[in-house]
Amino acid sequence: MKIIDSKLKINVPSNNKPLYIIVHHALKSSCSIYDIHKWHIGFGWAGCGYHFFVTKEGKIYRGRREEQRGAHCKGMNSKSLGICLEGCYQDYKGMADKSMPQAQFNALVWLTKQVQTKYNIPIDKVKKHHDYASYKLCPGNYVPWDNYITALRESNDNELEVENEQLRQTIEGLRADVEYLNDQWKKTSKEVFNLDVENKELNNRIALIKAGLKELGEM
Ligand SMILES: [Zn+2]
Repeated sequence: MKIIDSKLKINVPSNNKPLYIIVHHALKSSCSIYDIHKWHIGFGWAGCGYHFFVTKEGKIYRGRREEQRGAHCKGMNSKSLGICLEGCYQDYKGMADKSMPQAQFNALVWLTKQVQTKYNIPIDKVKKHHDYASYKLCPGNYVPWDNYITALRESNDNELEVENEQLRQTIEGLRADVEYLNDQWKKTSKEVFNLDVENKELNNRIALIKAGLKELGEM
């Protein structure tokens, strides 16, 4: 999966330090990030207030840049990243998306994982807008929130397993290296010992030759 650059021009300060991930829905069954951009400009804002937008088809668009402060959750806009889901996951003005397309769910999980890893954000800091604005249902009561958190937790576990496996292989590799070096060391020390023996033999021979020469000289 990838994040599509929506190329929105949004001029706001770059003072965001992401500690939280906050999930929203658009409160509109069908819309694009460009619609949201227009709506938010209509509110008198600098543009799309979210950092990411995930369509029902599972496409992920970038809104504000991650380092830019958001406009999506009062009191949290300079310490979080806002993800907005296309859809109306509550009963509202005759709309009600009662289930989330699998593609959107998967993209949401993938994106959340990416951001969690990048900013080291623990699972208990993945929040609903509703957690900070109890008068709103956002991201809607039809969002399968428990499944979402479970999926994040499972992918964390999987990652740990992969990491463990990689570590195990590294250790095995190191062990093989140590064994090889040990063997080499044994061979080398045997060679050194042999050289030593040869050296002694040569010295003896030289001594004999010297003694022989001396005798010849004295003759
Ligand atoms: Zn919201």
